This record gives sequence, C-alpha cells and structure tokens, in this order.
Amino acid sequence: MRGIFFLLLLCWSWMSLAAASEPEAVRVEGVLKPGGWAVVTAPAGSKLHYGGHVVKFDRLGQLPVGFARDSHSPAQLVVNLPNGGKVVRQITLAPRHYDIQRINGLKKKYVSPDPKTLAKIRADIAAARAARKRFLRQVAGWRERPFLWPVGGIVTGVYGSQRILNGKPRRPHFGVDIAAPRGTAVHAPADGVVTLAQKMVLSGNTLMIDHGYGLRSTFMHLSRLFVKPGERVRRGEKVAEVGATGRATGPHLHWGMSWFSTRLDPTTFVGVAVHKGDRVRALTSTVERPAGK
Ligand SMILES: [Zn+2]
Repeated sequence: MRGIFFLLLLCWSWMSLAAASEPEAVRVEGVLKPGGWAVVTAPAGSKLHYGGHVVKFDRLGQLPVGFARDSHSPAQLVVNLPNGGKVVRQITLAPRHYDIQRINGLKKKYVSPDPKTLAKIRADIAAARAARKRFLRQVAGWRERPFLWPVGGIVTGVYGSQRILNGKPRRPHFGVDIAAPRGTAVHAPADGVVTLAQKMVLSGNTLMIDHGYGLRSTFMHLSRLFVKPGERVRRGEKVAEVGATGRATGPHLHWGMSWFSTRLDPTTFVGVAVHKGDRVRALTSTVERPAGK
C-alpha cells in the first residue's frame, strides 16, 4: 500500500514537472521583426537566455527582449524554468528591408576625425557603454504601451538605413530623426531613470533614460537638458529641448532605443511605422502621412 502511494507521488511529481516544461509555460508577444521587441512571460523565477544575456524574470514572470537590426529568423529564446525544465522557442521574425541614406555637407572632423577628436569620441563611447551596462530592476517604464512621441515634427530619418556620409559608407542609422525648431520641448516617452546627461562630440548634448530591464531611450543633438543622472522621470515629462549640437545638419531630435547593447527601432514601441516626411505629434502615438504617399 505504502509502495503504491510513493509510486503515485513519483508519477504526480514527474507529470507536474513535464507539464511545467511544456512550451505553453512560456509566452512571447510583441513586434516580432528586426529592430522590434517582445515581452516574454514565464513562471516567476525562470531565467531567459538570449543574445548573449541571461536575465531573471521579474516577480510577475515577465521581461522584455529586443531583436537586432540584422537578427536572423527564427530568433531562438531559451527559458530555464525554476523546476529545472527548459523551453526553447523559435520566434519567426518578419522580414525587413532598409534604405540607403546619403548625407553630404558634414564637417570633415565629424566624418574623418583627427586623433584628438577621435580620443574624445572613444571616451564618449565608453561613457555610453557604461550607462548601457546598468540593469535597473525597480524601473517599470518598459511595461508602458504605447510609448509617446517625445517631440512633434517631421520624420527626416528612419531606423536601420545604411548611411553614406560625405560619400563614405558608415554604420547604419539606429534611431528615428524628427525635425523640429530649436527649443522645442522633448518629453520622456515612458517612465524611467536618467543614466547619462552630458555633451558628446558626435551626438552633442546627449540624454539617456533607462526604462528598466535593459531597455533605454537615447536623445541626441539637444540644445538644453533639464534633468541629471539619477533623477526619475515620468512619461510625458519635459526633459530637454531640441537642438543641433554635435554631428547634425539642422535642429532635430534623434531618438534611439536599445535593449542592453542591441539597437532597437523606437517606432515599434510607439506601435506605428513611419516614413520620411510623416508628421508626428508630441505626447501622442499618432502619425499623419502627407497626401499621395
Ligand atoms: Zn539620427
């Protein structure tokens, strides 16, 4: 009798382990394309392995992941469950094409910098990398949807385009550019904590807002900054003003987003696709396309 009881207990524990190991224990939802993101749901205490990162799920059993510009489909997410089980999910990413953007008339020091400028650029890169390494668990801005346009204006640059600066191929454009007059208010697209606010060679006055769990916004070419590192900001709060500092041909906001060091497309957080020439309105998630486009 006792033997049967133990056998039943063994069966039951094996069955519950098997059930929890089922792929259904893990859900993946989001904008599943290169430059996009997903929110992954799994039993609390699970750990996600993706893109060289190992991240523990929050107490609600969720976390965000980001897909790189050139990520291959399917993306493979591995989740280690707290009971020792493992779920492997193959995520099909929608195909994506990028255009070529030629920009001429930039000052030579920004395209082919001299050694002194190059040393400053390297120091800037190190500061940005240090800010991107931080991992803030207590910030939940990454859960907010949709993110809001930080500024109103005309879209002049989109995510992923291959750039040719003064005739020289350079790295792709990792953000969305919105042209607006100097001094136009820039708002936080979601809650966060400021992790960087300083002048840099290429990006001019630069602001990084960490939305938690490796997800962050970067604003470049600002004329004025109103917040400092360590400050908490609320979705919609005025944090800076548009400018043309650093490598810029005119006043505009460059808004980049990243998940750790993976550069993402901010428009996938607003939830709309944009094209050059579209008008976006501050503090909304709407886009107005000119007639005939
Ligand atoms: Zn830009």
